[in-house]
Amino acid sequence: GSLTVGELAKKLGKEPSEIIKKLLFLGIMATINQEIELEAIQLIAEEYGVKVEEKIEIDEDQFELIEDHDDPADLTVRPPVVTIMGHVDHGKTTLLDAIRKSKIVAGEAGGITQHIGAYQVVINDKKITFLDTPGHAAFTSMRARGAKVTDITILVVAADDGMMPQTIEAINHAKAANVPIIVAVNKMDKPEANPDRVKQQLAEHGLLPEEWGGDTIYVPVSALKQEGLDELLEMILLVAEVQELKANPNRLAKGTIIESQLDKGRGAVATVLVQNGTLRVGDPIVAGATYGKVRAMVNDRGKRIKEAGPSTPVEITGLNEVPHAGDPFVVFEEERKARVIGEKRALKLRQSELNATSKVTLDDLYKQIQEGEIKELNVIIKGDVQGSVEALQGSLEKIDIEGVRVKIIHKGVGAITETDVTLASASNAIIIGFNVRPEPQARTSAEREKVDIRLHRIIYNVIDEIKAALQGMLDPEY
Ligand code: GDP
Repeated sequence: GSLTVGELAKKLGKEPSEIIKKLLFLGIMATINQEIELEAIQLIAEEYGVKVEEKIEIDEDQFELIEDHDDPADLTVRPPVVTIMGHVDHGKTTLLDAIRKSKIVAGEAGGITQHIGAYQVVINDKKITFLDTPGHAAFTSMRARGAKVTDITILVVAADDGMMPQTIEAINHAKAANVPIIVAVNKMDKPEANPDRVKQQLAEHGLLPEEWGGDTIYVPVSALKQEGLDELLEMILLVAEVQELKANPNRLAKGTIIESQLDKGRGAVATVLVQNGTLRVGDPIVAGATYGKVRAMVNDRGKRIKEAGPSTPVEITGLNEVPHAGDPFVVFEEERKARVIGEKRALKLRQSELNATSKVTLDDLYKQIQEGEIKELNVIIKGDVQGSVEALQGSLEKIDIEGVRVKIIHKGVGAITETDVTLASASNAIIIGFNVRPEPQARTSAEREKVDIRLHRIIYNVIDEIKAALQGMLDPEY
């Protein structure tokens, strides 16, 4: 904040008239009750040998909560934000392109689309925002950074191929994030398409179709032939309506970085998703540990715009450095404040990189339980054969020690991959490898993310170790 002439005089122990005179020398006509700018305060104070620094506190809340302090009366419906996941080659990219083409060209003259990492389509006068990077790896690595951007997941399953390993991974990643799933049964144009088999397979993984008494929506589509797309979009709107997604457009913007890059001519370029408030050209902004002033905004049609409301993706320039995908961004009233906070966050980031964040490990599990930090131990199981993975899951899920239980958030056959580690990191889970080992990149990223990986060859030993950890009776490893 600023000070009045009277307040400044008092702080400096001088007569107000003396301060008014000095201000006049600076070309500022002021009365005793007038507020003066920080710059003038600094100049005057300097003459008395006093150095003035503005005190700015970092309010971490401002970054962490997207929907904070909003009066329910200020909230209006916002478009859903949708992510597409599924097994490789099941048609994620084709579907994203098909939706983009079918809806944008119809609505807009010209219709040249720009890849900025996300786009919006309109159906029945309602908007839907799609994130353009398909796959659960991208989804979860954003989540590992603390970003919660997805409202609905479209799980693409090819009707001729059925459920595959990455289909299950995608289900588990979406479940871990608590995001509802709509199944798009793709490639229906193929003669060997078998949607019933897809439903049967997925039902076994908790996605029971509505027509079988469950609550999962299945939509048959052909991304290639652009069939079933409207039905899919209508179902998205239906699920969104149930979620009652709302935001307050009449406040300073907040959201998440979706993509970023360094452009030779334009400097740092970032696609941001506005999640609350309205972002405007000229807004002072902090994104992750970077800061600046929004210089220009371009939407998904390559059009320059002046403002962007909730759930709108826009590409912005004006940041001093390139932020990370998944970083939160917040707009401040004053540029000076944005700069100070950006600098402080950069410093903090460097410090926290030095002493990496604490994750759950078996060694300090008991302490975390005692401190009430943990009520459930999240576990990912990877094993050499399906049978032992399931046996292990069965035994682990039976454990209940003083109310603390084991929750298997993902299991699979094969080596421990980097994606497993990302999921563990985002979900604060440990990984158990049964007769399998981590891939080299998985090992490196587990070290960086401080994810606890336990390798075993005997089921009994796994159970023993987990029980001991839950009871605080684990022998130190080293
Ligand atoms: P992604 O790896 O999941 O992104 O899959 P792609 O979108 O790259 O699609 C993989 C292959 O499947 C490509 O050759 C597509 O042309 C094809 N494909 C995608 N959707 C359909 C569809 O609805 N019908 C048929 N017949 N082929 C499709």
